[in-house]
Amino acid sequence: MPLPIVAIIGRPNVGKSTFVNRLAGDQQAIVHDEPGITRDRTYRPAFWRDRDFQVVDTGGLVFDDDTEFLPLIRQQAMAALAEAAVAIFVVDGQTGPTEGDREIADWLRQQNVPALLAVNKCESVEQGLIQAAQFWELGLGEPYPISAIHGSGTGDLLDELITHLPSVDQISETEEIKVAIVGRPNVGKSSLLNALTGEQRAIVSPISGTTRDAIDTLVERDEKTYRLIDTAGIRRKKNVDYGAEFFSINRAFKAIRRADVVLFVIDVLDGVTEQDLKLADRIIEEGRAAVIVVNKWDAVEKDSNTIYQYQKMLQDRLYFMDWAESIFISAMTGQRVEKILDLVDTAVGEHRRRVSTSVINEVLEEAVRWHTPPTTRQGKQGKIYYGTQVSSQPPAIALFVNDPKRFNEGYRRYIDRQFREQLGFSGTPIRLFWRGKK
Ligand code: GDP
Ligand code: GDP
Repeated sequence: MPLPIVAIIGRPNVGKSTFVNRLAGDQQAIVHDEPGITRDRTYRPAFWRDRDFQVVDTGGLVFDDDTEFLPLIRQQAMAALAEAAVAIFVVDGQTGPTEGDREIADWLRQQNVPALLAVNKCESVEQGLIQAAQFWELGLGEPYPISAIHGSGTGDLLDELITHLPSVDQISETEEIKVAIVGRPNVGKSSLLNALTGEQRAIVSPISGTTRDAIDTLVERDEKTYRLIDTAGIRRKKNVDYGAEFFSINRAFKAIRRADVVLFVIDVLDGVTEQDLKLADRIIEEGRAAVIVVNKWDAVEKDSNTIYQYQKMLQDRLYFMDWAESIFISAMTGQRVEKILDLVDTAVGEHRRRVSTSVINEVLEEAVRWHTPPTTRQGKQGKIYYGTQVSSQPPAIALFVNDPKRFNEGYRRYIDRQFREQLGFSGTPIRLFWRGKK
């Protein structure tokens, strides 16, 4: 879910840019990849208390026919408002309400977006209340006296603002969780699917020369729906040749792409093979949440140490995936199979989680205090200005720094580990982007 948008609206010269700068500090523009968000407006990340949002300045809104009519700007404001969760209408407390303000207010009242009224240029507190009171006539509710230049009054306004932002974890109840069951041939994917669905599902026998990618099975549990994407199926013939094997990997790749979370099935008798590593790489490349399912646990001769030895083996071979939980199961006997969907729930939640900018910057400050960024041979030191989570699924954090080249691999890994330790994100990869000043 992208960050909610707050549109700043008002006539020219009322102080909109000053206000946006105050909200966003020196945080740089967000570059959007999401469709529907137009690139010709500048979105800047901002936060208040523990809530993140982005502000977009709509340029000067001019409705007054005496003034130069600027349809383009008006169009921009309309477009910005269409995507916005809240609008802040900025007016000039020193001039009092103008004809232009009234027109904008009339227009705003017809829009389907909550609007707050910020009366700017109210530096003096007593006078500010009087200046602000004149704006009740606009019919937009309580006017908030602020000074964008000094920052006074903005706290009350922002406290009100964040009550209008959509709540953070809006995972729709009806949404399906897409779970791909992925692994090498014979690790037990079909058996696992059967164990999860609790029924013997007929295996479709392949017609020579034709293929199928995957068959989806829906499973309901605790009022949630899981769409299990099974990649088992054909290549049942003996002596799998290179061509068939290649194809089945491709199918696994496609399933990974479609999934929210991947059940990465490993055969405990074989350990982690080269092919498994390829699948693991792809899961990370695609940024999918994952659970490592170690199957055929029934077939292992065990003593009290065995599970630790296997866990150690997993850690060694899949060290780059150490964020994923692993579970030792038997699809054949059903042992621990019912726990798998609990791990799926956790991984999916973390995959979608958003962390506020203030928390990210606390982690960064702490990390930098313990371990200052490196200095290059030329004596130039790296500096991290701030970080912010720019997207989820998987969580991606942009770090704004003076020069990314000053941060070596070792330091980047250190920061990576700090985020892991402090923020968790168990079950999902995290992406860090190091961005320099433009
Ligand atoms: P915009 O056209 O609405 O984006 O307005 P600007 O942010 O460019 O500001 C227009 C003028 O108002 C500039 O000269 C600012 O310095 C001034 N201004 C902005 N905010 C304040 C404020 O809080 N108090 C005072 N006194 N002047 C302000
Ligand atoms: P797929 O190719 O990954 O779909 O694997 P299958 O589910 O077809 O299983 C391959 C073989 O492993 C079959 O002979 C299964 O009976 C066997 N198998 C699957 N799960 C288990 C398990 O938990 N324990 C044991 N011992 N064998 C299993």
